[in-house]
Amino acid sequence: MDHFLYRDGELFAEDVAVAEIAATVGTPFYCYSAATLTRHYRLFDEALAGMDHLVCYAMKAASNLAIVKLLGDMGAGMDVVSGGEYARAKAAGVPGERIVFSGVGKTRAEMRMALEGGIRQFNVESEPEMRALSEVACAMGARAPVTVRVNPDVDARTHAKIATGKSENKFGIPISRARAVFAEAAALEGLEVVGIDVHIGSQLTDLEPFRQAYAKVAELTETLRADGHDIRRLDLGGGLGIPYTTSNEVPPLPGDYGAVIRETVGHLGCEIEIEPGRLVAGNAGILVAGVIYVKSGEGRDFLILDAAMNDLIRPAMYDAHHDIVPVREPAPGAEGARYDVVGPVCETGDTFARARDMAAVAPGDLVAFRGAGAYGAVMASEYNSRPLVPEILVQGDQFAVIRARPTLDEMLNRDSIPCWL
Ligand SMILES: *Cc1c(COP(=O)(O)O)cnc(C)c1O
Repeated sequence: MDHFLYRDGELFAEDVAVAEIAATVGTPFYCYSAATLTRHYRLFDEALAGMDHLVCYAMKAASNLAIVKLLGDMGAGMDVVSGGEYARAKAAGVPGERIVFSGVGKTRAEMRMALEGGIRQFNVESEPEMRALSEVACAMGARAPVTVRVNPDVDARTHAKIATGKSENKFGIPISRARAVFAEAAALEGLEVVGIDVHIGSQLTDLEPFRQAYAKVAELTETLRADGHDIRRLDLGGGLGIPYTTSNEVPPLPGDYGAVIRETVGHLGCEIEIEPGRLVAGNAGILVAGVIYVKSGEGRDFLILDAAMNDLIRPAMYDAHHDIVPVREPAPGAEGARYDVVGPVCETGDTFARARDMAAVAPGDLVAFRGAGAYGAVMASEYNSRPLVPEILVQGDQFAVIRARPTLDEMLNRDSIPCWL
């Protein structure tokens, strides 16, 4: 459920007309609904009620400071994957004890930064990383709390680019080697092993892979405890998928997901962490674009928008589908159209949809890409020297620019020409 609905023939974000925002900030822009973000966070929090738990929002889905602060102020933890995200979490007021640090390539500088600023745990992914972290911690006179990420070799049944839990993926250590790796971690002076971490992929629309992975983690917990490790925390990752179109079946809800967690690991008495990103932010955001031209091609019409692949790369990168709806609601019975929906970037990959049946629109009209809140703005670039797309947050009847569109001067001034040219 989200808060982008038609009201009197106009698309609204909560109580603000999307067209009003467009008139103020221009297009394209991302627009988030605070009510949807907080609702989604709460669903996960409630799904784990009664268990000792922390929902750590995976910031890479949408990491604007305003979004991080909104969720952080509700008590959310943060899952960060870089020093930059760590700095954002801290700048948004999230205390270190609610921040977990994931990722296969943490540098020593990033480790130091997190140990200095405070960290709940590092989710370490390899032996070389463990050794480096131990050295960094020792040099600081600290001990780094860690979980070890295991790769359970489970097929997440999602797009290959976002599957992370098969043995051929770069993530985690093979679960078959877990006992040896935990033994080494426990022997490293700078580390304090607190638990196990797993994350099998993103946009999972079926609970079965989660059930398989978590069952393996439960079994491993008992084995490692028998080996003498004090396994007291399980980080179960993120990955629950969202409906990207109203015409498909609905993925499982956070409550169903919580039930799987309870069934598979609930008996272990561990503190549970989850790291949802997409489900929190995905349907809490839209990308609003203006129609520049409708161009007739051979056997097809191109709908040319002022948004492009640099603003929303998911269709080009993951063959992702986003519903595209007009901001002015079509009159009942109005005739639709079929378009190839494209942006102005000079690449054929700059195609949002092919042969899409949708409302007929005209130059100057506004359209909204639904489900664009996660892995949207964070993946945007300035390819083709297009200014980075701005972000807007709506709460009730108010809205604010939470990242402004850079001016062309600001863009140019980031470059410098050496004096010897
Ligand atoms: C990307 C990622 C997540 C979030 O995944 P979603 O599909 O957005 O829920 C959580 N944990 C880790 C380690 C990740 O890399």
